[in-house]
Amino acid sequence: MDQNSTANQPLAGDDAVVPFAVETLDVRGRAVTLGPVLDSILGRHNYPEAVNKLLAQAVTLTAMLGSTLKFDGRLTLQTQTDGAVSMMVVDFNAPDGLRATATFDANQVAEVAAKEDFRPEFLLGRGHLAFTIDQGQYPSRYQGIVVLDGISLEEAAHDYFLRSEQIPTRVRLAVGEVLTRQDEGPNTHQWRAGGIMVQFLPHSPERMRQADIHPGDAPHGTEMHEIDEDDAWLEARSLVDTVRDVELTDPALPVEQLLFRLFHERGVKAFEPHVMSDRCTCSEDKIVSMLQGLGEQDRSEMTEEGAIAVKCDFCGTDYNLDPEVVFKA
Ligand SMILES: [Zn+2]
Repeated sequence: MDQNSTANQPLAGDDAVVPFAVETLDVRGRAVTLGPVLDSILGRHNYPEAVNKLLAQAVTLTAMLGSTLKFDGRLTLQTQTDGAVSMMVVDFNAPDGLRATATFDANQVAEVAAKEDFRPEFLLGRGHLAFTIDQGQYPSRYQGIVVLDGISLEEAAHDYFLRSEQIPTRVRLAVGEVLTRQDEGPNTHQWRAGGIMVQFLPHSPERMRQADIHPGDAPHGTEMHEIDEDDAWLEARSLVDTVRDVELTDPALPVEQLLFRLFHERGVKAFEPHVMSDRCTCSEDKIVSMLQGLGEQDRSEMTEEGAIAVKCDFCGTDYNLDPEVVFKA
């Protein structure tokens, strides 16, 4: 019997996270390609191309991690560093909403982006990355923090899962651009990003060996503590490591086909996709309650010529409010 079930259902297409399982390897995972959602998020910001590449990676990672949330939860990825991009915030609001914003120094970005071997993580300096999970109606709030010191977002995700959830995890992220030549008019430009992550979740806990943990501050020359990695996990992560960037961003390669290409010998099952959309959660009510929480001095600083103008950093919506109404209480 064919153990693969990637071919029996309609393809998820762009802007959808596809959960999957390779049961013979005790592996679960998620894969995604983002297209139109990324175009609309990045298109409105008008950030430099290098910033877009980094932010697209962060959005892709957030989509894969956020799609596990239930109810009306929210997952936030936030970086704060001394690099050219001093801050990024990406939110996933269940069940489908993505939004993203970045703060950067344009001159520094241009300098870093001009490097011959440029990689998006060069824009992140030293600092940290925080994942915050809010489970909506439930009071639990969880935050995991990873130190950023030149590592990529992929490596930061590995660290996060190993330290906070003790789950061996492998993540690949890639960002690409599609330029289409038009006979008439300007060429069209489209962003594409793709990601795949696998996690080792064996039924027996003694198989959860973690050879990946950093040796920490052990003095140089200390013999490394050798741990045999589980063969199944070794195989799964090796397969994911073979995924090339172009396979993650190729518009002609659906996620399901990539999964089949990687895991067909072991049998891979794809599950119902989670569709992603470009959706902000700002509203006049939220802006008003934020303003009402401000002290007297901030209130008067926000007020100009008898009006308060607030622009949403994520979606760019302008809110023009009357201070007499906002602060009437
Ligand atoms: Zn907004």
